[in-house]
Amino acid sequence: MTDRPEEFDLLVVGGGKAGKTLSMDVARSGQRVAMVERGMIGGSCINVACIPTKALVTSARAARLLRDASALGLVVEGGRVDVDLLRAHKQDVVEGMVAANRQQFLDSGLHLVIGEARFVGPRTVRVSLADGGERLLRGDDVVINTGTRPHLPSVPGLAEAGVLTSDSLLHLHLDRLPGRLVVLGGGTVGVEFAQMFASFGSAVTLIEGGPRLLTREDPDVSDAVMRVFVDDGIDVRVGVAVARVDRDDDDTVRVTLDDGSLVIGDDVLVAAGRAPVTDGLGLDAAGVRLSERGFVQVDEYLRTSAERTWAAGDVAGSPQFTHVSLDDYRIIRANLAGGQRSTADRLIPYTVFTTPELARVGLTETEARRAGYDVQVAHLPVAAIPRARTLRQTKGMWKAVIDASTDRILGAALLGAEAAEVITSVQLAMLAGMPWTDLRDAVITHPTMTEGLNLLFASLQPSPVR
Ligand SMILES: Cc1cc2nc3c(=O)[nH]c(=O)nc-3n(C[C@H](O)[C@H](O)[C@H](O)COP(=O)(O)OP(=O)(O)OC[C@H]3O[C@@H](n4cnc5c(N)ncnc54)[C@H](O)[C@@H]3O)c2cc1C
Repeated sequence: MTDRPEEFDLLVVGGGKAGKTLSMDVARSGQRVAMVERGMIGGSCINVACIPTKALVTSARAARLLRDASALGLVVEGGRVDVDLLRAHKQDVVEGMVAANRQQFLDSGLHLVIGEARFVGPRTVRVSLADGGERLLRGDDVVINTGTRPHLPSVPGLAEAGVLTSDSLLHLHLDRLPGRLVVLGGGTVGVEFAQMFASFGSAVTLIEGGPRLLTREDPDVSDAVMRVFVDDGIDVRVGVAVARVDRDDDDTVRVTLDDGSLVIGDDVLVAAGRAPVTDGLGLDAAGVRLSERGFVQVDEYLRTSAERTWAAGDVAGSPQFTHVSLDDYRIIRANLAGGQRSTADRLIPYTVFTTPELARVGLTETEARRAGYDVQVAHLPVAAIPRARTLRQTKGMWKAVIDASTDRILGAALLGAEAAEVITSVQLAMLAGMPWTDLRDAVITHPTMTEGLNLLFASLQPSPVR
């Protein structure tokens, strides 16, 4: 390797959703682009996050359906979960997407450099190539998109107890499903895994140190999720912290809680948040500052403290969703071309893929009241929606938060079947600035879950006829 770097118009460090989409896009426009990726073609989402979990949620839902088949008039005998088949199903979905990504990378004309990048100067990285050797690369513009990894809290004994994270559990290297699974953390990742393994037949204990599951949600929404979990036989403990974790000689794990109680498991999944992948990146050499929380510090245009150096996705402190990383790509793409696109005021929906799903957009009721809005709240039990009856999926509740002074929708929380799809209608209404009465009065296909929006908004006091 010479000391003279290979020059590119754009250098992308880490091939997450933002980085890979930007790299392909800019390469297709004829510019010279290098994307350095240390191993996961396509990034976290398709390898160890959204896609494998949702493939397994499909299996978990099928397992529930088989168990409850008689309610649908079917006799199903002998159904059981086979961990080898489960792994094969998940791998097939992941490998299909990895192969499609690899082909798209090739077709776009980007230079894919497989190896670990480390900054050695402004906009310059040294890459330890996966197949040996090094390369020195420099970009006129550089984008950092290195993502996050599971965070292990400093609980005594935890690191030594051979615990699982979402990464390791998703590899399903287990030769059996855990008989007893203890999940530490009642956030999005924790609740999805807890319910998934309960559906597969594991006895699951879910421990959350905060006062309730999914603490960023309104208390009534968290409580509704909690009721679903308790109905599913999950042992949910909230408001208790883990004091220590020990692996015993017989390979069981003892989790001691700070209220003195003990939970015994065969495996422990730690789902206690995600830490930015910035260590070992040499960001000092690049002149890139970190935020107090250790993420790459960016302004609303996703510029870092270093000239022509940008950051996107989880590592930039953006809300940790793939669709947000995709939007970060749009912002950087526009700003590379001289635009002023900003992260401010983005309306970001998200879904927790429990069964039923919890889909969210906009403000919670708590946030809206705190912000001083004149709040009106619409409520609907999912059982009131005819489609939910035909699906035999009547669990859940919907709520929407309205600004009574303008009739605009401020936010919604939909806990129910197909909520991830329905929430987009609410989001579009919000983006269009439609009053809630438009959703109350829209003619919507019957019977669909979306039709429930008519009922949800009809639960509000009717406004004067306008
Ligand atoms: C279990 C789980 C389930 C999830 N489910 C969903 C979901 O359903 N929907 C949703 O929207 N979000 C979901 N998320 C969140 C989502 O996965 C992330 O927000 C998203 O993947 C972040 O993408 P990113 O662009 O920040 O980077 P990532 O996709 O994390 O990519 C970063 C890349 O950088 C590479 N890299 C790191 N350091 C270096 C280096 N030094 N040199 C070279 N390469 C490097 C890594 O190998 C990686 O490929 C889930 C997360 C988890 C953990």
